[in-house]
Amino acid sequence: MDKYELIEKLKREGYIRSNSVEEALLKVPREEFVPEHLKDYAYCDTPLEIGHGQTISAPHMVALMSELLELKPGMKVLEIGTGSGYHAAVTAELVGKDGLVVSIERIPELAERAEKTLRKLGYDNVIVIVGDGSLGYKPLAPYDRIYCTAAAPSIPKSLISQLKDGGKMVIPVGKYMQKLILLEKRGDKIITKDYGAVAFVPLIGEEGFK
Ligand code: SAM
Repeated sequence: MDKYELIEKLKREGYIRSNSVEEALLKVPREEFVPEHLKDYAYCDTPLEIGHGQTISAPHMVALMSELLELKPGMKVLEIGTGSGYHAAVTAELVGKDGLVVSIERIPELAERAEKTLRKLGYDNVIVIVGDGSLGYKPLAPYDRIYCTAAAPSIPKSLISQLKDGGKMVIPVGKYMQKLILLEKRGDKIITKDYGAVAFVPLIGEEGFK
């Protein structure tokens, strides 16, 4: 499957709903974010191994999370779980040059490789930080949007507190049976909606799995 066939499939299946998400997925070269021996599979709609027991997310999941977040130019977004940096690059396309993506990864080697790839491709609106993303990243909070690419036992309180009023967060929650949750913060109110079963690697950290 090539990039164009993949995009058509994601549109047909309803994962891509907006022109902006379609354009972002078209622009980001996924082959640059996968190991050399997996480049032929870069446009298969599946997660791929990136080392250290971790994976690059499947394109349909990146599309779904991007659509749920309704990312707009100029937004400041926190990503937890940089992995390969691919999802961060898609988000960077959606928030544009006036926006910012702050991405946290707990495995230093992955963070370093992702940062190199992002710099090489010119994504200057992404900052990669090594740390425990279950605690968010306070120095640059609050965020318009937060998303987590690893599954948490419950929604970390730190992440809710670092979300702007009116902000949205997408996070997989659960141990064996995980659900994709969209959370909206409206004043004192937290509204959540369940978007069904998903399979992510665990979020390991103070407000994640120990
Ligand atoms: N978004 C990534 C991409 O496009 O390649 C995929 C990320 S992978 C599914 C999940 C990542 O979350 C892994 O790289 C893992 O090391 C990271 N992770 C797990 N717990 C974390 C934590 N507490 N803080 C930061 N990163 C964490």
